[in-house]
Amino acid sequence: MNIHEYQAKAILKEFGAPVSRGVAVFSVDEAEAAATSLGGPLWVVKSQIHAGGRGKGKFKEASAGEKGGVRLAKSIDEVKTFVGQMLGATLVTVQTGPAGKQVNRLYIEDGSDIEKEFYLSMLVDRATGRVAFVVSTEGGMDIETVAHDTPEKIVTFSVDPATGLMPHHGRTIAKALGLTGDLAKQAGTLAAQLYAAFTGKDMAMLEINPLIVTTDGQLKCLDAKVSFDSNALYRHPDMVALRDLTEEDSKEIEASKYDLSYIALDGTIGCMVNGAGLAMATMDIIKLYGEEPANFLDVGGGASKEKVTAAFKIITADPNVKGILVNIFGGIMRCDIIAEGVIAAVKDVGLQVPLVVRLEGTNVELGKKIISESGLNVIAADDLDDAAAKIVKAVKGNA
Ligand code: ADP
Ligand code: MG
Repeated sequence: MNIHEYQAKAILKEFGAPVSRGVAVFSVDEAEAAATSLGGPLWVVKSQIHAGGRGKGKFKEASAGEKGGVRLAKSIDEVKTFVGQMLGATLVTVQTGPAGKQVNRLYIEDGSDIEKEFYLSMLVDRATGRVAFVVSTEGGMDIETVAHDTPEKIVTFSVDPATGLMPHHGRTIAKALGLTGDLAKQAGTLAAQLYAAFTGKDMAMLEINPLIVTTDGQLKCLDAKVSFDSNALYRHPDMVALRDLTEEDSKEIEASKYDLSYIALDGTIGCMVNGAGLAMATMDIIKLYGEEPANFLDVGGGASKEKVTAAFKIITADPNVKGILVNIFGGIMRCDIIAEGVIAAVKDVGLQVPLVVRLEGTNVELGKKIISESGLNVIAADDLDDAAAKIVKAVKGNA
């Protein structure tokens, strides 16, 4: 689960980390009040969307102006103008994809005088099973480019959970960033605060880009991106409350209600499969036959008829879906349950696109019988190859 920059900064602040003062707003009036209370003389108006690269992003609407999604304002009038332009407009950044994201809230923040911009992030390193820090002097810009062109400028290390964060970790960060004296001390304090926030809130990722040195010699977290480990969210109801459903795919939200593993994709063939491995193989074979999957969907081992019906409805509600491939291996799952779920869903929502069903395993004969006796226009397939060939042919014939 992801949250907005201003929410992430509130968490960092709770752990004592240095962030700018700011107020989240939803209207021009709120922005005026926020800018007045902050006092100026410099404000930054920041689009709050769950994607980075906002500063260099571009709005789709000409009315939003030429500037990007993060704007420096020198007067309260300018703050109001920017908020008026950006609210409701669609921001396209390197991370949003071409469709962009609508800006529904803005963060009005104190402007900082920047001396230097660094990069700092934390994540769970799967290789070591530890929380790792990644730091670089090359902040503010695309860290992927730094990693590719000048990997020596990135320093990483991980923290032993048995000792937790130690003073030497802080010194490693200070050295990597070329900080001495009081700034090195600040780096040590910040490292401890960030580590406490990361582990205390069960974060999966924390990225501060840029971490700055101000002209008056203070370290500050100028941007913050946080995502949480979804398996630990049950321990943090206050973090779950920060969820912004408008930032999430509505089909994925619906799927999460039924505990389905569903990820929306860009293709045309909707897939309903049981088992993550089989779902991956099904997506691969669709591509092999020249089409693209519209989703990843694993209904799981012991799915009920209700779950299958919900899954089928989510797939058919996607306007990009031009055909559906149901590929079930009945191990724990019984083929007749799948057949009943599919039929119930089709009766409920109708079927406007071709449907290929491949069933194998437990109660396969019964499953096939249920489908053939239903009178539905279902194309039966013998194996995975046959199924992929048939659905791709049906979709292409339909186009
Ligand atoms: P993104 O990474 O999505 O582009 P950032 O929050 O990193 O958004 O902002 C982009 C750039 O805008 C920063 O690298 C920094 O140079 C500038 N900036 C952001 N916040 C402030 C601020 N409070 N004061 C001054 N400059 C800022
Ligand atoms: Mg940034």
